[in-house]
Amino acid sequence: MAQDNFSKIISHAKEYGFIFQSSDIYDGLSAVYDYGQTGVELKNNIKQYWWDAMVKMQESIVGLDSAIFMHPKVWKASGHVDAFNDPLIDNKDSKKRYRADELIEEQLDKIQKKVDKEINKARKRFGDDFDEEKFVSTHPRVVKYLGKIEKLRSRFIEALKNEDLDELKQIILDEEIADPVSGSRNWTDVRQFNLMFDTKLGSVDGAKIYLRPETAQGIFVNYLNVQKTGRLNLPFGIAQIGKAFRNEIVARQFIFRMREFEQMEMQYFVQPGTEKEWFPYWRDKRMNWHKALGFDDALFRLHEHDKLAHYASAAYDIEFDFPFGFKELEGIHSRTNFDLGRHQDMSGKKIQYYDNERGESYVPYVVETSIGLDRTFLMVLSAAYTEEKLEKETRIVMKIPAPLAPYKVAVLPLVKKDGLPEIAGKIMDELKYDFNCYYEEKDSIGRRYRRQDAIGTPYCITVDHQSLDDNTVTIRERDSMKQERVPAEQIFDIVNQKVNMKTLLKQI
Ligand code: ATP
Repeated sequence: MAQDNFSKIISHAKEYGFIFQSSDIYDGLSAVYDYGQTGVELKNNIKQYWWDAMVKMQESIVGLDSAIFMHPKVWKASGHVDAFNDPLIDNKDSKKRYRADELIEEQLDKIQKKVDKEINKARKRFGDDFDEEKFVSTHPRVVKYLGKIEKLRSRFIEALKNEDLDELKQIILDEEIADPVSGSRNWTDVRQFNLMFDTKLGSVDGAKIYLRPETAQGIFVNYLNVQKTGRLNLPFGIAQIGKAFRNEIVARQFIFRMREFEQMEMQYFVQPGTEKEWFPYWRDKRMNWHKALGFDDALFRLHEHDKLAHYASAAYDIEFDFPFGFKELEGIHSRTNFDLGRHQDMSGKKIQYYDNERGESYVPYVVETSIGLDRTFLMVLSAAYTEEKLEKETRIVMKIPAPLAPYKVAVLPLVKKDGLPEIAGKIMDELKYDFNCYYEEKDSIGRRYRRQDAIGTPYCITVDHQSLDDNTVTIRERDSMKQERVPAEQIFDIVNQKVNMKTLLKQI
């Protein structure tokens, strides 16, 4: 997907009420966004798809809605006060701020792209006879590039592991990495920057508290409450959807990286040792959730972490091919008993599970699935945005999976008179209990179809003069643009078959 597609998607999202910059009339607030009239519907449907798949369909998982503010000790125990940092670096000439680790990752990508270019060139030249493995291990330029990547990557990982900020800067200097905006190589030192927002609780001398940077801790500190009152046996999970806040250093990629965003997280509590089975189980299950949406499978891939977070023993990302390349969409983490153990130590409360079978008590292990709701929204927008060349024009159609579409049906009287709006009104009254419906009587029918295509409405129902005689209507399908005349009583079944969330859930 090309970068120029990205700017088209961003303007389309604004033009059709999906996403607005926050505080737009005051020129916006950086990396904060609002969801408009169509956006909120799509967002709610994504939430419902996740909740149904993770809670409604799973006997062993229950929900939770914990508060954003939590006791400050929570963030001390979780390690966020001391370790939730990103290394930042400023360019002295452009005054732009970057994440030092991202500059180095981009450098690695750049070299990898050179390798890919050589491979593609050779593939074209040799055709069917091309032996990629042999080419990669013998072609002098490719061998040189790959050697460079390996050396740079291991130096980089070592520096991250040791939190060696001087070494990160030295890598940037040695690699002659320039500011992507100004081309300048005049860098400051690398500094650690804590990503948590803080505020004060209560009046004047209130204690410093944080806006949560992840929803997971709300689940951990409620583990005992939920396990006891729900009388739950291991393995079981707790899921929640909610806002999280991070003072991101660089936030220039629309809703991919925001300072206020939403997460959908599930912590699965298991017997120690069994996390080795549950980890691949949840990784694959989550990948199926994405693939069930029906977009091209090649848009998704798994990426294993080189550097593990302070709490993790294994971690994979599910990455999506965004218009700016493959990037993390969801994280699957094996979090050991780190969080519950730390809360047990810090609070002095015993957080243990008595295992009848094993006849012992222990702190459960955790496998976590953590996905950004806004990133999922951007994934759907990016994959759905389609420009289609027709005979006389280009139509823009959002091929949003029907169960997630903001509106499921648009009801359109052909003209605003002769009793057609009344019939259309009756159809609306019948459908609106089950589907989010859109009613529109202005403009030519062709224009109205285009507007519905642009917001991804799977079906348009047109009421015309024939409807007055025989109570039939025309139903038009978004992707094929096929139109069919059907009795009005059949509308519900036709639409329901396609837009029901069941169609997605059954494939996971
Ligand atoms: P990144 O490496 O992109 O900063 P992360 O590894 O810090 O992400 P996690 O802490 O694993 O992310 O959070 C889980 C999920 O929350 C991510 O996969 C992503 O979808 C989402 N997420 C994290 N930070 C942001 C953000 N600033 N804006 C939007 N979504 C986010």
